[in-house]
Amino acid sequence: MKIAVLPGDGIGPEIIAEAVRVLKAIGLQFEMEEAPVGGAGYRAKGHPLPESTLALCKASDAILFGAVGDFSLDTLPRDLRPEQAILGLRKELNLFANFRPAIVYPELVQASSLKPEVVAGLDILIIRELTGDIYFGKPRGIQTLANGEREGFDTMRYSESEIRRVAHVGFEAARKRNKRLCSVDKANVLDTMQLWREIVIEVGKEYPDVALEHMYVDNAAMQLLKNPKQFDVIVTGNMFGDILSDEASMLTGSIGMLPSASLNEKGFGLYEPIHGSAPDIAGKGIANPLATILSAAMMLRYSFNLAEPADRIEAAVKKVLASGIRTGDIAEPGQKKASTKEMGDAVLAAL
Ligand code: NAD
Repeated sequence: MKIAVLPGDGIGPEIIAEAVRVLKAIGLQFEMEEAPVGGAGYRAKGHPLPESTLALCKASDAILFGAVGDFSLDTLPRDLRPEQAILGLRKELNLFANFRPAIVYPELVQASSLKPEVVAGLDILIIRELTGDIYFGKPRGIQTLANGEREGFDTMRYSESEIRRVAHVGFEAARKRNKRLCSVDKANVLDTMQLWREIVIEVGKEYPDVALEHMYVDNAAMQLLKNPKQFDVIVTGNMFGDILSDEASMLTGSIGMLPSASLNEKGFGLYEPIHGSAPDIAGKGIANPLATILSAAMMLRYSFNLAEPADRIEAAVKKVLASGIRTGDIAEPGQKKASTKEMGDAVLAAL
């Protein structure tokens, strides 16, 4: 089990260090190798996704990723900016299915801006298609019209096979949970989304045990705020998923708690916290490492099929939260704030 460890920028190295300690503590034989990515990749090798880093990822069974982003490099041409690394990895490794769980831990229910009764016990999973849709569709560009006015345009496209494979991922995931899948589209307005709905219905015939529902994206955005617990698994396209998964993460109120996985057809995956490099707190040793530790647990579950140690890590995190240990981002006013390392120590002790 070879893991490519890519700490990246900002708080990346701090949070990754704690996740690596947790992986080492669970008593399995992992081979872990580190490589620079993002701004760190640019500084070390002149590119946000250096060839050697990509080669390491391709030779590994999974990637544990910190975060990329470095404002001091924002003046570089777009293809050399740190964030390009993540887009490059998605494309090179065909990571088309993005898993974003949104879980509200009982102890952190106050962190949500919604009423406790609306979010208490929330446990939903959003699966976002990651390599197609309007973000990649061609033609795109900004052109000058005959009257001299400029016009911007992008193209929403989905092929049948792209829809089919992510639909299968959605149904399979629902099967492992509460067997309910909500497909989010905009079939009433967009032809691409009409095809989306047709294909999802077709694929659904292979999963008679999963209850399939369809929802327009505008309604889904409302329902996520009104009654988020009605959902189990949501599957949707790239753009809608981008927006809805961020909305869902805010139901939990704690960006430092949420892991994610991006998988390809073979179960190879990149695992990372949903937050960025947090330059405002980088180097201070105060970042919350739990999203990264929970990403490592997802890696065990999805790439290595190791449900038992994944359960153990998740249980350890719950135990730590129940014991009242908090980093600054999830602490109540006046509560003692643990450092990144102290939080890592607490998870290790709970394990
Ligand atoms: P961010 O997620 O880095 O930070 C938003 C806020 O949340 C900040 O106040 C930060 O201090 C806080 N925060 C984030 N993670 C935390 C943690 N683990 N513990 C405690 N507090 C935490 O988003 P941003 O500030 O908009 O972006 C910063 C950089 O990160 C940018 O360069 C952006 O492009 C990049 N980014 C990268 C990724 C990625 O690597 N996948 C994702 C989002 C943003």
